[in-house]
Amino acid sequence: MTTGEKEHVESIRQNVRDICKNFPGKYWRDLDEVRGYPTEFVNELTRLGMLSVLIPEEYGGAGLGLVEGGAILEEICKSGGNAAACHAQMYTMGVLLRHGSDELKRRYLPQVASGDLRLQAFGVTEPDAGSETTKLRTTAVRNGDNYIVNGQKMFISRVQHSDLMILLARTTPYDELEDKTKGLSCFVVDLRDLKGLDVRPLKLMFNHHSTALFFDNVDIPAANLIGEEGMGFRYIIDSWNAERILVASEALGDGYWFIDKASSYASTREVFGRPIGANQGVQFPIALAYSHLEAARMVRDRAADLFDAEQPCGAEANMSKLLAADASWEAANACLNTYGGAGFDTETDVERKFRETRLWSIAPVNNNLVLAFIGQRVLGMPRSY
Ligand SMILES: Cc1cc2nc3c(=O)[nH]c(=O)nc-3n(C[C@H](O)[C@H](O)[C@H](O)COP(=O)(O)OP(=O)(O)OC[C@H]3O[C@@H](n4cnc5c(N)ncnc54)[C@H](O)[C@@H]3O)c2cc1C
Repeated sequence: MTTGEKEHVESIRQNVRDICKNFPGKYWRDLDEVRGYPTEFVNELTRLGMLSVLIPEEYGGAGLGLVEGGAILEEICKSGGNAAACHAQMYTMGVLLRHGSDELKRRYLPQVASGDLRLQAFGVTEPDAGSETTKLRTTAVRNGDNYIVNGQKMFISRVQHSDLMILLARTTPYDELEDKTKGLSCFVVDLRDLKGLDVRPLKLMFNHHSTALFFDNVDIPAANLIGEEGMGFRYIIDSWNAERILVASEALGDGYWFIDKASSYASTREVFGRPIGANQGVQFPIALAYSHLEAARMVRDRAADLFDAEQPCGAEANMSKLLAADASWEAANACLNTYGGAGFDTETDVERKFRETRLWSIAPVNNNLVLAFIGQRVLGMPRSY
């Protein structure tokens, strides 16, 4: 990266930090308590163009890359907030951008970029198909100018706070397929006034606005099919590297927040007549977690650079997600241990962030599957699936 590019990324980071100052811990604590959605925060990020950085300029976005997208999500999490409220727009938009028809992109992307439409929902997981995406059962059957969708989705986040959802559904029965990675298709679903969709909120250990979806003869215009019928799983796979790098960025932001909290508290809290941070049993775990975060950050930076240069980056993207998720969890534990009992007090925000950061090793993709990718695809060992 040139000096000018580095300065540009730093100025974006500074803008995000400035926005986040107006949304302190209390804002997120209060929302956590009532399971509310950070509407004002998301509106402000949208207004300042932070959620459309990955959308090309011809569709009204900033046309930037994952270096900038990752920096934005990282800074939100580092400030003590939770980027999950709005990360999906960055995760999922690429499916539409890379594989959608010109007509579909022109119809939706400028409105997503301007904030008139929110693309915050991604409907893949089902009760019987999480990691094993090719076993999806929700069907989309062509009927004239429409597809009729029936089935159930699970854990789908932000549906109640989004106008659009990218949906993955089965268009060819599993048993009829020779290649099991085919037969699934992606759609842009306009959630406004959609008939036949029942959305039921789920109560999870943190505030992600996740829902179970029940589709009962839901009509989707055939024009909303993304790309070719039957190729949807391939399109989703195509978006995985970006998703992994963005998840890594969120985990890193959380991790740096924990390190900052832990080192400040360790330097000021006095027990037995001296700051607890003078004890190596307290200090070293924080220093170790910080070192692991820095290592993960370097791999994330490398992965994002490669991605933006359109170079292969599967290994780096997967490793950055794995390392960042592990390092943020290590930092979370070091922070909670440093706070002792006070860490369980909601006023410190430690327990909230502790719950939130635990997600990164499980979703949107489990670290086990990331390890399987590294073991099988990078190192060439035998496959487990
Ligand atoms: C808060 C939250 C928000 C979410 N939001 C969304 C969303 O918006 N949209 C969406 O589509 N999904 C969403 N999900 C779902 C998420 O993507 C899945 O939870 C994730 O993909 C894992 O699937 P699963 O939970 O069904 O686990 P399963 O697939 O049931 O797996 C269970 C465990 O077995 C392990 N395992 C399975 N097979 C192997 C193997 N071969 N080798 C090693 N380990 C294996 C897995 O790694 C995992 O640990 C969300 C989940 C959560 C918790």
